[in-house]
Amino acid sequence: MSFRNFPMVPRVVFGRGCFNQLDEILSEKRVSEKAPFIFIVDDVFKGNDWLISRIPLHFNDKIIYVSAEEEPKTTYVDGYRDAILAEFDEIPSGIIGIGGGTMLDYAKAVALMLTNPGSSADYQGWDLVKKQGVYHVGIPTISGTGAEVSRTTVLTGPERKLGMNSDYTPFDQVVLDPELCKDVPTNQWFYTGMDCYIHCIESLTGTFLNAFSQSYGEKSLDLCREVYLEKDSRDEDGQDKLMMASWHGGMSIAYSQVGVAHAMSYGLSYLLGTKHGIGNCIVFDQLEEFYPEGVAEFKQMVEKHNIDIPKGLCKDLTDKEFDIMIDVSLSLVPLWENALGKDWQKTITREKLRSMYEKM
Ligand code: NAD
Ligand code: ZN
Repeated sequence: MSFRNFPMVPRVVFGRGCFNQLDEILSEKRVSEKAPFIFIVDDVFKGNDWLISRIPLHFNDKIIYVSAEEEPKTTYVDGYRDAILAEFDEIPSGIIGIGGGTMLDYAKAVALMLTNPGSSADYQGWDLVKKQGVYHVGIPTISGTGAEVSRTTVLTGPERKLGMNSDYTPFDQVVLDPELCKDVPTNQWFYTGMDCYIHCIESLTGTFLNAFSQSYGEKSLDLCREVYLEKDSRDEDGQDKLMMASWHGGMSIAYSQVGVAHAMSYGLSYLLGTKHGIGNCIVFDQLEEFYPEGVAEFKQMVEKHNIDIPKGLCKDLTDKEFDIMIDVSLSLVPLWENALGKDWQKTITREKLRSMYEKM
C-alpha cells in the first residue's frame, strides 16, 4: 500500500480586508520589472471600483478579464498562455486568480502551462505535469468548491473533462478575504456552497474515509449546517464561516474522494455544459437512495432559502446523448469505488444510470 503524500498550500492569509495586503505579498515575489503579475479576474467585477482599484498594478502588470459563464477549457487555457508569451518579453512573475472556482482553475492552469510545453490537454490526468509552474495565487470571491486548496484544476478538453492533478498545481499563496463574497447572488451562493456540503457528505459516507478526511469533513459539515440551517446566513459571520467550510471540505476530499453526485454531474457538465455547483444540486436532489440523510437535509436547505433547482434537463435527450453522459460518468472509477465499494459495478449498470439521469 502506498500512502498519498500531497502538498498543501504553503501560505495563506485570512480575514476581512486582508485583500489590501496583496501588494506587500506580491512585491517580494516580483522577478523583474519586465516580468509582470497577471491578474485573471472574473469579468463580473469589471467596473467594480471597490475591488478593481485595490488590485496593485505596477510596471507592466496586467488584468485579464475572463467570463465565468463557461467552465475552463483546455483551448482557452492554451490561448491565454500563448497571448501572455506573445505580449511580454519575460515569463510572468506570477498569475493571480480572483473569482470563483472558474478563475482559480484558470490561474492554476495558466501558471503551469507557462513552463510546461504543449497543450494543457496533454496534462489532463494524474501527475503528468513535470515542471513547476510560475508562482500562483488564489483569491476566492465565492465559497464552496475547495479549488483554493485542491491539487487539481478541472478542465474540459477535446476528449474529457478531467483535472490537471499534480504536486505543482496547488497555489503558492491563498488570500481568504470573506468580504469579497458579500455581493454573490443568492442562488449562486447556494449552488456553490452546496458543492462544499456535497463534498462533505460524499467524503464522510465514502469507503475511502479515514481520520484525516473525517476530521476536516466533520468540521466543514458543521459550518455548512450553521450557515444554511441555523443562522442569518448572509451576514459577515456567515461569509467567514462558509469560506472556512470550503477550505475544510477541500482538505477532506484531498485524502478521500467524492462520490455519486460528482460522478453524475460531470456527465451533465460534459454534455450540456451544466456548471459544477448547480449540476451537483440537480443530481444530489435525486440521490435519496445513496445518501438518504444528506439529501433530506439538502432539501430542507433548499426550502429554507427558497432556491430553484432546475428539473427536466434530460427530458429531450437522445439515446446517443444519454450514452455520452453515461460513458463520462462510468469512467470516474475512483468516485464510484469510494461511494459504493469495489463491487460498485453490480449496482451501477448503464441501465441504472440512464434511469437516474432520466429523472434529472
Ligand atoms: P464560478 O467561478 O463558476 O462563478 C459562479 C458565478 O458567480 C459566476 O457567474 C461568477 O461571475 C459569480 N461570482 C463569483 N464571485 C462573485 C462575487 N463576489 N460577486 C458576484 N458574483 C460572483 O463558481 P464556482 O462555483 O466557485 O466554481 C465552479 C468551477 O470550479 C467549475 O469550473 C468547477 O469545475 C471548478 N471546480 C474546481 C475544483 C478544484 O478543485 N479545482 C473543485 C470544484 C469545482
Ligand atoms: Zn465539487
